[in-house]
Amino acid sequence: MINRQKAVRTPSFEEAVHLILDAVSPLDCESVSLLDSLGRVSAVDVPAPWSTPRYDNSAMDGFAVRAVDCAPGAALPIADYVPAGATASPVLNPGSTVKIMTGAPIPDNCDAVVPFEAAEEVNGVVRLKKPVIARQHIRFKGEDISAGDTILSEGHVVRPVDIGVLASFGGKITVVYRQPKVAILSTGDELVENTEDLVPGKVLDSNRWAIAAAVRDCGAIPVVLGIARDDVQSHREKLEEGLHADALITTAGVSAGDRDLVRDALAEIGVRSVFRGVRVKPGSPTCFGSHGNTPVFSLPGNPVASLITFEEFVKPALLKMMGHRRVLNPFLPAVLGANIQKSSGNAKLLRVILEQRDGALWAWSAGPQDTGMQKTLLRADAVAFLPADRMSFTAGEKVGVQLLNQLNAHLTYGNDPLRSSKISPSCAPRSITRSGSGRAT
Ligand code: AMP
Ligand code: MG
Repeated sequence: MINRQKAVRTPSFEEAVHLILDAVSPLDCESVSLLDSLGRVSAVDVPAPWSTPRYDNSAMDGFAVRAVDCAPGAALPIADYVPAGATASPVLNPGSTVKIMTGAPIPDNCDAVVPFEAAEEVNGVVRLKKPVIARQHIRFKGEDISAGDTILSEGHVVRPVDIGVLASFGGKITVVYRQPKVAILSTGDELVENTEDLVPGKVLDSNRWAIAAAVRDCGAIPVVLGIARDDVQSHREKLEEGLHADALITTAGVSAGDRDLVRDALAEIGVRSVFRGVRVKPGSPTCFGSHGNTPVFSLPGNPVASLITFEEFVKPALLKMMGHRRVLNPFLPAVLGANIQKSSGNAKLLRVILEQRDGALWAWSAGPQDTGMQKTLLRADAVAFLPADRMSFTAGEKVGVQLLNQLNAHLTYGNDPLRSSKISPSCAPRSITRSGSGRAT
């Protein structure tokens, strides 16, 4: 359900995140094939339809025995053989043994399996090398999962192991929360789609690609609407089209310029505003509202600001709509590598590079923090959160950092290059960002 509460003042970063999360709910659910459920969120509890294993079976290739027959030095004639896949097993006669393969049903009377490596077979007779304990190397009927046990819980993100367990009970489909279709609208007269049209004064519409990629990256379905021109009619038409989706994202046109039409156009078509602006940089012009159950995110136009605000404000909401419970990127403790100055009033999401030293995570500014600087975001491993009420941050003090991309983060795990990322950063040598203090605008 969409929250009807109206924000009366510009919310802080944290307030904005919570206003958005309060306004969205998980979507309805759908059945998908087992494999397609990977990474999706289960919408139901799934009970085991039967107990498993379904029959007592051998955990080893070896010899089925009665433990009482296995005094040290005992020699047991091999009376029979049960391969894996056998549907019946012979009865074990006292004083003998049955050769058995892993997974094969245990013979009646048998209470232990002696693995090949603990026995010696000569001319059809088995001599035991080690003492035998009753019940050893037998997987007993029902000892793993009992009928009715929950094998997949509502809210659980489906992993390969879940798919394997569901398949082991004959599962063919999984019921998961639906993925939102997310309409993406770029706005602005300066935008063009093709390089042929890239005359001075024009800019390629890169936001549609970045935001579509970010939508897909978090598991939702991007629907690109194209470009709304800087006139009310064009905005209204495209925005109305976007309201048919499960969520709508616009970029640009939310600042104070006289051509920034998004907020008014949204109000005209009945989108209820929850907040206009957030006390955070980058991202201060971000607006959020709703139309029925469709959340509407209006992100700033600068490519860096639109991606960071997507990460902080849109992604948690989309994750919640897809049934996820853990929707916020956690802040990890890190040590500031250099002094940082910022203005007061707004919190700051400082793009940083990270390095592990002596077991601690260290954060350095990834470069110029102006939102026009794409290279700094290309280079960044994380954003560090600098609270609104402070202006000076000193090298050595603790800050919270959110990883932007686990796979590319410049983190090392021991000296093994396959466990560490040492790919050189995009655009500039990392060392240039280490020296001196930095000013965050
Ligand atoms: P605005 O929020 O409309 O003031 O735009 C801020 C900046 O972002 C301007 O330099 C725009 O040219 C740029 N910008 C806006 N939309 C896009 C887009 N879709 N792709 C790339 N840059 C954009
Ligand atoms: Mg504009």
